[in-house]
Amino acid sequence: MTWYSLVPTAEMLAIPGNKVAIIIHVNPDGDALGSSLGLMLLLIRMGHICTVISPNDYPGFLKWMPGSDRLIILEESPAVAVESVQQADVIFAVDFNELKRVKKLNDAFVASNAHKVLIDHHPGPAIEVNCILSDVSASSSAELVYRFISDSGLLQWVDRDIASCLFTGMMSDTGCFSYNSSNRKTWEVVAELLDYGIDKDRLYYLTYDNFSADRMRLLGFSLNERMEVFQEYRTGIIWLTREDLNRYHFEVGDSEGFVNYPLSIRGIRFSALFIEKEGHIRISFRSKGNFPVNEFARKYFNGGGHAKASGGESYVSITETVNRFRQLLPLYKDQLCDYEV
Ligand code: 5GP
Ligand code: MN
Repeated sequence: MTWYSLVPTAEMLAIPGNKVAIIIHVNPDGDALGSSLGLMLLLIRMGHICTVISPNDYPGFLKWMPGSDRLIILEESPAVAVESVQQADVIFAVDFNELKRVKKLNDAFVASNAHKVLIDHHPGPAIEVNCILSDVSASSSAELVYRFISDSGLLQWVDRDIASCLFTGMMSDTGCFSYNSSNRKTWEVVAELLDYGIDKDRLYYLTYDNFSADRMRLLGFSLNERMEVFQEYRTGIIWLTREDLNRYHFEVGDSEGFVNYPLSIRGIRFSALFIEKEGHIRISFRSKGNFPVNEFARKYFNGGGHAKASGGESYVSITETVNRFRQLLPLYKDQLCDYEV
């Protein structure tokens, strides 16, 4: 864990009225939203002027989250988004640790003289800030935001909405506590969040039973028509073209979770999802066991992330991208097969 003194941040936040900008990564997921919105609601209760800024829109199935209606989206309101960063006295970077992940907010962040704080759980933080809480052993950034609140002596400001945001972040980044959650501290935080009166079951339904019929049909199509299983490499993939997405009226977030399906097949320990976007291919990687998908994403697909969950991009066609991936598998045969699933 990297942890430089909290004191300067706590001292700044002790005086109400600061302008605070919280920035999150492109294609924000449940943890990016849960951790940032929980922190935003807390700072607002403390009397600060606080906004969360996302580079782009977020999944429809997370639009119920407390505070989400106040989110500023760079793609939709670029001037407001950049101004919020430029005018901030304090900037929190939450749930990412490389500035390329915030797209066009990068320049405003670097140029700002604000007090900068990073709260994140990805390996290898590479952003210059005044204060950093970076811990790869944490389940999620939401867990770290809770630790930040607790260590800064701010727990009296936590309410049910804030606890609900943080719980949702933790639930999302652990696959409902099926991975990244073998640490006692994670469960202690969950226990404390329950004490704030969160309705755990409802948060689950709101997040996972909140898809459109089109999304479910796209999932069916993906598994039937677009999944390939390479048992000899213990690998499964799904790929979707623009045409496929249009056919099912694709909306942001509709393919969330698809990458996990090949991992449910007996023997499979490495999965990849390829989605044809405008101008590039977006790729998600997941693994079970010890195959480090962040290294794979960094080496071949301009990406990174966690050892068991990473992402990347490719700038050739979807057919070429998937072919390239297929051709890489024999290089990793030994590593992929040297594991009991
Ligand atoms: P997802 O597949 O859900 O988009 O991303 C999985 C994980 O990898 C997330 O924790 C995300 O932050 C990280 N990730 C996704 N894409 C990239 C990327 O291009 N670069 C880096 N460094 N991390 C990524
Ligand atoms: Mn996260």
